[in-house]
Amino acid sequence: MKNSRTRIPVGIIGATGTVGRQFLKLLSNHPWFQISCVAASARSEGKLLGKVYKERFNETLDDDIAGLKLFNAVEDITQISGLATLVFSAITLSKDEIKKLEEDYAKAGIAVISNNSAHRWTDDIPMIIPEVNPHHCSLIDIQRENRGWTSGLIAVKSNCSIQSYVPVLEAWKKFIPEKVMVATYQAVSGAGKTLSDWPEMQDNVNPLIGGEEEKSELEPLKIWGDIIGRGIRSAELPTISTTCVRVPVSDGHMAVTHVSFASKPSKEELIEALLKFRNPLRDLELPSAPSPFLIYFNEEDRPQTALDRMAGNGMAITVGRIREDSVLDYKFVALSHNTLRGAAGGGVLLAELLHKKGYF
Ligand code: NAP
Repeated sequence: MKNSRTRIPVGIIGATGTVGRQFLKLLSNHPWFQISCVAASARSEGKLLGKVYKERFNETLDDDIAGLKLFNAVEDITQISGLATLVFSAITLSKDEIKKLEEDYAKAGIAVISNNSAHRWTDDIPMIIPEVNPHHCSLIDIQRENRGWTSGLIAVKSNCSIQSYVPVLEAWKKFIPEKVMVATYQAVSGAGKTLSDWPEMQDNVNPLIGGEEEKSELEPLKIWGDIIGRGIRSAELPTISTTCVRVPVSDGHMAVTHVSFASKPSKEELIEALLKFRNPLRDLELPSAPSPFLIYFNEEDRPQTALDRMAGNGMAITVGRIREDSVLDYKFVALSHNTLRGAAGGGVLLAELLHKKGYF
């Protein structure tokens, strides 16, 4: 464990939930960040984190975090602002309540990294996959001017469903993807569940994940958009059509993607573009950034969820089965870990990027 005096104090809002628990794991021994406070709902308020984890998850926490007392995430912003420079937000409330709550934290001078979808379409709030659109961090300067915040900010991560195919298409940007058809095979942990507490998902595939397809089709366009004036103008291409289904897998979202390009590359050129992807984080030495970010498999039967979801500590994207398509130009299979890269890990990496860029 590093000396806590040299680390930045951070809080977890929603520390007793599925995503909050992942944040806790990732931050417990983080070289830059030190968990200084935790918060959840009124039902947990005042309890010791260690006791709640033992009761709910039968998990024993390290002494330094087990003794933290849970704040009320909605009522105790003033106390939390005295203890944390940044909070990771992973709370379940209505969209309007989350928007207001995150703004209240930022107004109180705290940097908010949000796992929630509430602010993904707010004009002056960037939605970032660090390896794809790190330049969108500069929207925070506009956000602070707009809102009169100095140390406060809000930055959000995107939906977990897009993390498998967007990075691959980013590596192929020079070939200009025009049409993209995606089918995602999404794990039960994406719904905050496990296979044992969701018996209906055993031996079953559910063809509906409410609201997921709209997010999967639109969020990539904001991520590939440009900062114009005081907001982001979404990209117009590619046109994306998705079908998102729930499969009986614990963790890991797989995406089968078909794509057409304006300038048709060879298969070898596609593979070369993946292998030579110039990761914009390469020189930043961010503790959670995987190297390599994109892992290409020549083997015909990879990536596989159980074998490959933990590549790069659950932060890398694995891709394979690139082949010509009889309808569009090419098709491929890609995989990402939904609660690590797609949720808490992506949030921690975003916080590292913002710290490196001097935003807190
Ligand atoms: P969860 O397991 O249900 O946890 C929700 C957390 O919010 C708990 O800490 C809970 O505290 C707290 N909370 C609930 N009501 C509250 C209230 N009225 N006031 C203050 N705190 C309250 O949910 P989750 O799956 O971790 O998801 C959290 C957020 O991340 C959601 O917005 C979800 O859509 C989003 N998300 C989840 C995933 C995923 O993989 N699960 C992926 C991407 C995004 P108590 O324990 O005290 O009730």
